[in-house]
Amino acid sequence: MASTQQVALVTGASSGIGRETALALVKAGFTVVGTSRDASRSTPLDGVTFFDLDVTEEASVSALVEQVIGRFGRIDVLVNNAGIGLMGAAEENSVAQVRGVFDINVFGVMRMTKAVLPHMRALGRGRIINLSSVYGLIPGPYLAAYVASKHAVEGYSESVDHEVREHGVRVLLVEPGGTNTGFEANSTRPDSPLRVYDKQRRIAEQVLAAAVEGGDTPATVARAVVAAATDSKPK
Ligand code: NDP
Repeated sequence: MASTQQVALVTGASSGIGRETALALVKAGFTVVGTSRDASRSTPLDGVTFFDLDVTEEASVSALVEQVIGRFGRIDVLVNNAGIGLMGAAEENSVAQVRGVFDINVFGVMRMTKAVLPHMRALGRGRIINLSSVYGLIPGPYLAAYVASKHAVEGYSESVDHEVREHGVRVLLVEPGGTNTGFEANSTRPDSPLRVYDKQRRIAEQVLAAAVEGGDTPATVARAVVAAATDSKPK
């Protein structure tokens, strides 16, 4: 018999927002599964069971979902948090770099959503919470491909939300401002930056740094995710 304990699955829980969100969901009473591309190297988190996941690999996505269902019997909440940035002026980013970012930020969300939805439909309930960004709503110079990926996440999420409501499932968005995590260091950068953009790039970097200074923290973003997962107001 399936357990009645609610299960939350957080992608990219090895650092930053995902890590804080996994811990906040444990505190909120969920059984929490976190993922990393190499779970054996992730710092253990109290109450979080780690599995391997690379959202760019179809086989990795289906193996993960099978493992979680096999072990815990259900998935009530999916947090599509795994994501990376791409810095650089539009003409500096190669198509391969842009594809790489879309493969994680957009197709990763789609692969996970497709794999988890049948289980939520069978359960008759579920919440899929997608980490977009303030850049899913506004433009961001020197971040065009990243911005485009998050706008894609917005359109996909809101559309699927309308498809699945009748099955008791909702697809919800969390849109953080600049948040101090490993995100910037983990972002892809142009191989050969064009000098013509140096001055404007410096200004854009200052704007980004200021946004992180005055922006969200992993803990405030985690509170927004828990509120979305539990249909409550952020505490
Ligand atoms: P981090 O770089 O700290 O964390 C990113 C996570 O994504 C890591 O845990 C990493 O796990 C995982 N990841 C990367 N590539 C893959 C992959 N191919 N498959 C599976 N997991 C992967 O960044 P943040 O915590 O800041 O970012 C989390 C989310 O929040 C992202 O979607 C980001 O776009 C969004 N966001 C961030 C903001 C910020 O300013 N930091 C602002 C707005 C939104 P591992 O390396 O262990 O596999």
